[in-house]
Amino acid sequence: MAKKLPDTTSESSLSPLPDNFESVTKEVTVQTIAKGKKRKAESTVKATKRIKEEPALDDDIVAGAEITPRPNRRVTKKAIVKEEVSDDGIEVKKTSARKKKTEVADNDDKSKVMKTIRRRTKTVKNPEPIAQRTQDTKLRIGAHVSSAGGVHNAIPNLIYIGANAFALFLKNQKKWESKDLEPEAAQLFINGCEEHGISAADCCVPHGSYLVNLAHPDPDRKKQAYDSFLNDLSRCHRLGVRLYNFHPGNSNATTREEGIKLIAENINQAHQDPTSGKVIALLETMASLGNTIGGTFADIAEIIELVEDKSRVGVCLDTCHIFAAGYDLRSPEAYATTMEKFDNEIGLEYLKAFHINDSKAPLSSYRDLHARIGTGYLGLRAFHNLMNDKRFHGLPMVLETPINVIGEDGKTSEDKGIWAREIKVLENLVGMDVESDEFRELEAKLQEEGTAERDRIAGQVERRNAKNAKKGTKKGKKKAESEDEDEDDLEE
Ligand SMILES: [Zn+2]
Ligand SMILES: [Zn+2]
Repeated sequence: MAKKLPDTTSESSLSPLPDNFESVTKEVTVQTIAKGKKRKAESTVKATKRIKEEPALDDDIVAGAEITPRPNRRVTKKAIVKEEVSDDGIEVKKTSARKKKTEVADNDDKSKVMKTIRRRTKTVKNPEPIAQRTQDTKLRIGAHVSSAGGVHNAIPNLIYIGANAFALFLKNQKKWESKDLEPEAAQLFINGCEEHGISAADCCVPHGSYLVNLAHPDPDRKKQAYDSFLNDLSRCHRLGVRLYNFHPGNSNATTREEGIKLIAENINQAHQDPTSGKVIALLETMASLGNTIGGTFADIAEIIELVEDKSRVGVCLDTCHIFAAGYDLRSPEAYATTMEKFDNEIGLEYLKAFHINDSKAPLSSYRDLHARIGTGYLGLRAFHNLMNDKRFHGLPMVLETPINVIGEDGKTSEDKGIWAREIKVLENLVGMDVESDEFRELEAKLQEEGTAERDRIAGQVERRNAKNAKKGTKKGKKKAESEDEDEDDLEE
């Protein structure tokens, strides 16, 4: 399934990919053993589908279930599950995990369960990469890959797309509760990095939980946010990861000044906890203003100013976010001005990582809507400026561009080939002449691809601005911000 719509990707114009690039549909037979009550075959299918749609939940669903033995079940059921090959590594694993789970279900012996995990993990067949990692480059470009089923699974996922850098969630980013990092998964993550010559310290930038707001003044809420934040830093430390990116927070429940103080206070406290090792906390630049903290370089600078150990704080610059927040990157002059501002207000020495996204929304629209590279309002030239800035070669650059495509059957699926192509496009921009036919053709093609989305969002922004101008109240602004949250586009 999941044949691509002709207008969603740009396979032909971009870097050539191996012959096995096309998504292949595979049939996976899932057997579950059940006793007593009958379970419908669709329920297995549904469960698999849910995993596919909400990868963040996988860790809890699968790994959590793995160490919680269930009553013995004997009725054998079959279900046919069709999945795209791009997800096979994970999906096959999920379904086989379920099977094994029930097989060992009547055994309480944890060591036996751990052996099963080991056996299962070893038998996972990683899909053939659809693009090879570029070796002769100083650039470290990658994407935010799935860690469904455990952090170690991020490694095959980044290899699959030919990435030299990556982000991942270390635990469910939408839930407060999380189970401890499995020592087994941690070891496999470390081994995987070693095997592929990936330095977790330099190339990996995990993304923090969306729930954590370190600017919350309420003591209980503050503790909850702090505990989750520290827990993530500790996970990084255990995995050999040096950089950790998170959203600074919002001052919905307090003043901006107090919020900034609280964020710095939490960072200082976490730095003093030995479980956080030497991990560097990166403040992500944000797209919105209002109560969001981090929408201006000044906000970020104020937080850093209050952090005691300055060697353990930094910034992750999201190109989409800063553009939406009013910092232009499109022309060489605008790019230079923005970087100069960053340097003057924050200091380029704090810039440790990038999120590389185009923007579906125009400059200063304060909307967080990621677009595929070259298809948004930033356009290919903005990325040409960045990729040719040697000061940043070697820093991890992570794509968070949308990869959902709608198949002929109307169903949405992920096409990770989009990231594989974008990585190559970005790498190829180094040294490319913007006046060359190669550049101009690619630029025009990508812009054409994004026309409909740019127009759609521009219309929304215009209507919102007109409405706000009419009202001239804060209320209008607040409404517009809450509308942003309803967007289904990737907002990170
Ligand atoms: Zn983010
Ligand atoms: Zn981001």
